[in-house]
Amino acid sequence: MENTPGILYIVATPIGNLNDISFRALETLNKCDLIACEDTRHTKRLCQHHDIRTPLQAYHQHNEHQAGQKLIDRLNCGEHIALVSDAGTPLISDPGYVVVQLAHQAGIQVSPIPGPSALISLLSVAGLDTSSIQFEGFLPNKSSQRLSALKQLLPCQSTLVIYESSHRILACLNDISNIAGSDHLMAMGRELTKTFETIYHGSIDQVLTQLTDNPVQQKGEFVIAISATKPTVNESVPLIAQKLALTLMPLLPPKIVSKIVGSHHDCNKKQVYQFILDQQASE
Ligand code: SAM
Repeated sequence: MENTPGILYIVATPIGNLNDISFRALETLNKCDLIACEDTRHTKRLCQHHDIRTPLQAYHQHNEHQAGQKLIDRLNCGEHIALVSDAGTPLISDPGYVVVQLAHQAGIQVSPIPGPSALISLLSVAGLDTSSIQFEGFLPNKSSQRLSALKQLLPCQSTLVIYESSHRILACLNDISNIAGSDHLMAMGRELTKTFETIYHGSIDQVLTQLTDNPVQQKGEFVIAISATKPTVNESVPLIAQKLALTLMPLLPPKIVSKIVGSHHDCNKKQVYQFILDQQASE
């Protein structure tokens, strides 16, 4: 007789405060046959706090394929498995993608147990427009690569959200300032839900000053939201054309730039020219 396959539950866990966990998440972690986690020592603390005795098994980015297949075998034998990460929602800049993909391929039911995420937590308090958001996770570690990534991403018509660690927070904010402009509006969450939680809201320059004036505030975990660029100057110049114009502006005279951009993106070169003049005036 064939076993009915088990269910793979993707369970969100706290991003700091151990009490930020839903009844359903606790119930699921309790009733599953196994909890697949990134770091057993880390998840053990959560389990001890909530008196959960389900066995733990390590599942992290380095063994995702091998460990993922083993989890699928167990699910196929009828076991129910909860997958968690160290903090927040699995697969959001965290492992889990491979096993979820394998589960779909194997026809195994995958069910979310929603809960905390640094991304959504910040957006809920940022005071920025959330009608459209772009989440980029971690930008590259190296400044040169981070700058070119930011050049591709900004200006952005959505609120842009990124994760950053304490090692690079100042360098990253400086890079954002260089690309977006020091007076651009942003919000940042530091140590969300933890004892030293701090929410920043203001220009990039103001946030940078707060951090440089107080080095203790450079420590911890950070999530950054950069306000969407409002189509201020010239709404008739498409964003992609604006981006090309901004790239060429330091290299060529405005007339040549507007000609190139106008023909490349099939838009009005006079409006591109006006866009360039407005940009220069605001610098
Ligand atoms: N899966 C997680 C989630 O749903 O938010 C994210 C995991 S990612 C490996 C870890 C990064 O998320 C940290 O480096 C930091 O940028 C951000 N983060 C996690 N917890 C945070 C917190 N309590 N406050 C601010 N940022 C946090």
